[in-house]
Parts: sequence; C-alpha cells; structure tokens
Amino acid sequence: MSEVAPLIVKDVHKSFGSHEVLKGISLEAKKGDVISLIGSSGSGKSTFLRCINLLEIPTSGDIQVHGENIAFKTDKRGERMPANMRQVELMRARLSMVFQGFNLWSHMTVMENIIEAPIHVLGVSKAEAIERAEEHLNRVGLYDRKDYYPAHMSGGQQQRAAIARALAMNPEVMLFDEPTSALDPELVGEVLKVMRGLAEEGRTMIVVTHEMSFAKDVSNQVVYLHEGVIEEQGNPKSVFENPSSERMKQFLSPKY
Ligand code: ADP
Ligand code: MG
Repeated sequence: MSEVAPLIVKDVHKSFGSHEVLKGISLEAKKGDVISLIGSSGSGKSTFLRCINLLEIPTSGDIQVHGENIAFKTDKRGERMPANMRQVELMRARLSMVFQGFNLWSHMTVMENIIEAPIHVLGVSKAEAIERAEEHLNRVGLYDRKDYYPAHMSGGQQQRAAIARALAMNPEVMLFDEPTSALDPELVGEVLKVMRGLAEEGRTMIVVTHEMSFAKDVSNQVVYLHEGVIEEQGNPKSVFENPSSERMKQFLSPKY
C-alpha cells in the first residue's frame, strides 16, 4: 500500500465578498515533497496557505491532512465554517506555519515561545517540551539564544526561532509564507540554509517564495499561481527552463 499523503487539497475556492481570490486550487503533497509556490503579489499565495491551515475558511473545496478530511458545516447565516474547532486546532498543529514577520510572542523568551504550543495544544509535559525545544534550537543554531527576548535578536535569528517553534509541533507539513522577504539581505542566507537542511531531512514543505534559486535548487515541485489559478506546475527544471505559459515566462524574465 502506498503511503498516505500528508496533504491533499481539492478544488479550493475562496472569495472575500464578491472577490473570488482562489478559483479552484488542487494540490497534493507527498511525504518529503518541497513545493515552491510562486507568483506575483496579489495572486493568492498567502490566501492559499491560510486556507490550508484554516486561518481562512475555504468557500468551497476540501482539505485532507494525512487522510483525515476537515469537517465543515454551514452556520445560520449560510457561511461555511469548521464543524469541530478541536479538529482545527489539532490540524493547525500538524501544518505549522512560518510567517514573513516571524510572529514570535514579544513578551516571551525564545524558549517560552517554543514550548507554549506543545504544552497547551499537544499536552506535552514541560520537561519534555524543554528537552525537545533544546534539540530544535541546536538544529537552527540558536541554543545560546534560548533565554533571549525576540527584540534582542536579529531578524534572521527571530525567523530561525520561529522555525524551531514550528518544528516543536512535529508537523506533518511545514508552511512558509515568504520567510525571508522581511529580512535584510545579509540575513537571508542563514534562514535559507536552515530551510534547505529541513528539505534534505525529508520534511514535507510548502514554501511561498521569491527566492528563485531556492525554488530551483531545493524544491521538487514548483507551482505558479496567477489570479487564483494554477497557471503552471511541474518539476523545477521543466517549469524554469521550458515554461508553457506566457505569463510564467514574463514572470521569470528580468524586470530591469
Ligand atoms: P499574495 O500572497 O499572492 O500576494 P494574497 O493571498 O495576500 O496574495 O491576496 C490575494 C488577493 O486577496 C488580494 O487581492 C488581496 O487584496 C485579497 N485579500 C487577501 N486577504 C483578504 C481579506 N482578508 N479580505 C479581503 N481581501 C483579501
Ligand atoms: Mg502573500
């Protein structure tokens, strides 16, 4: 029997009012896949990631995490919503997300940031959460910063701490939304290096990125989104060297 896919997205649509932002997106991530999601600003990349982990509720379509479908219901006003908030909470833990703006709690140390969700969402003991957090901090090269507050660290260190926090949930799939685009250029490399390492370890990842070299070298699948539709999709070699879509060619061509 083949392995259950960590994530299957089926025909997801998302509208804000009358504005349809996602127009039927389907995607399957197999174990170890690293999928780069590229496209112009406003094409729906963030909305898509947010629909995957239910920060936004898809207007229609299904999300399946490791074989389990998210259950939806329709509320009194006719709006679609999750049928079971506990399921959503557990699903989110299995799809941990790393944001552009790091999103660490500023009033907590790095260590406190990392152990918060394992303790409160997964029910891990504090001692065990700390032990695992130390491994993840070593993994991202931040063990010596564990008692720092985010404000006392560089952007690159904060983002690596956010990655350690995501790892602490032992996620099925890691979602990254432009994890390096808020960083000073000299700090981008240290974060990409950690992400490259995660990919090499066989982590399943979906990465929204403008770093074309990451998309080319690290991912095994590239998805190009245009106005809420997958316009081009395939392995990096075919997508970058021989795109079939004219828009994709334009997107890749140097702007200046
Ligand atoms: P990208 O990440 O590719 O730049 P987004 O997913 O952020 O694109 O946005 C896609 C479109 O959806 C944009 O037109 C944006 O204005 C709109 N949008 C995103 N979030 C919301 C929201 N919460 N309410 C209304 N419109 C939204
Ligand atoms: Mg975005």
